[in-house]
Amino acid sequence: MSRQPVLFVSHGAPDVLLNPGAAVHMWETLGADLPRPQAILVISAHWAAQEPTVSTAATPETIHDFGGFPAELYSMTYPAPGAPALASRVRELLAAAGLPNAEVPERGLDHGAWIPLKALYPEADIPVVQLALQPHAGPDWHRRIGAALRPLRDEGVLILASGAVTHNFGWLTWGTNSQPRPQAIAFSDWIGETLARDDRPTLLDYRRLAPHGADAHPSEEHLLPLFAALGAAQPGEKPLRLEPEYTYGGLSMDAYLWQDASPAPITLEH
Ligand code: ZN
Repeated sequence: MSRQPVLFVSHGAPDVLLNPGAAVHMWETLGADLPRPQAILVISAHWAAQEPTVSTAATPETIHDFGGFPAELYSMTYPAPGAPALASRVRELLAAAGLPNAEVPERGLDHGAWIPLKALYPEADIPVVQLALQPHAGPDWHRRIGAALRPLRDEGVLILASGAVTHNFGWLTWGTNSQPRPQAIAFSDWIGETLARDDRPTLLDYRRLAPHGADAHPSEEHLLPLFAALGAAQPGEKPLRLEPEYTYGGLSMDAYLWQDASPAPITLEH
């Protein structure tokens, strides 16, 4: 079995699926071209818990955890099956790394999970498990969680981290895809350049070291999935940066893909 990649996506605003732009098309291409996983573990910015918590739901419901968007979004579903056996395996790996862990039976898929999944795997036929973040615990905690889960990549599991490279609502101009703010570009490019060097200590200290670091994330939960993805990457394994677009003038839709060099890496040129 070939090693699965690790994918971080910026999931954007919930209405990204209604007028699909470059980011949605990128997700569709990735889903079609990446090696098909046997199951998917999603670490989304939209589920927080006191300790790393997995959902063991056999048929996770689709959660519409947003307000004020067009009615059409609230009727969308993503009926993928759950994967209780994967949930158990995640707990086992976390425990082996000395990390606390828990499970809940009823949690469904939040929009940080199902929105990109709907474009990546529209058939909704690959089992999905979600793992909750600890927003109070910071970047290095999430890097450790990702590192603990790295073996899943050799067990047919795609680790999908879903957050946002930039997430300051004060930077957004709702209703129009205006020119991206210079601050959003500066921060996104810094993340890209620092990931390209695999300079983990600098990344972990982004609030102090990145241009507009704290401003890009007034609260940290949307960037924390990136650190989980980073942990799941092998040290020295450098990601492919995919830069489809900025939405609403301030949401970088950048994605990062860590994958073995064989067979041919995805280039998205078609
Ligand atoms: Zn979000």
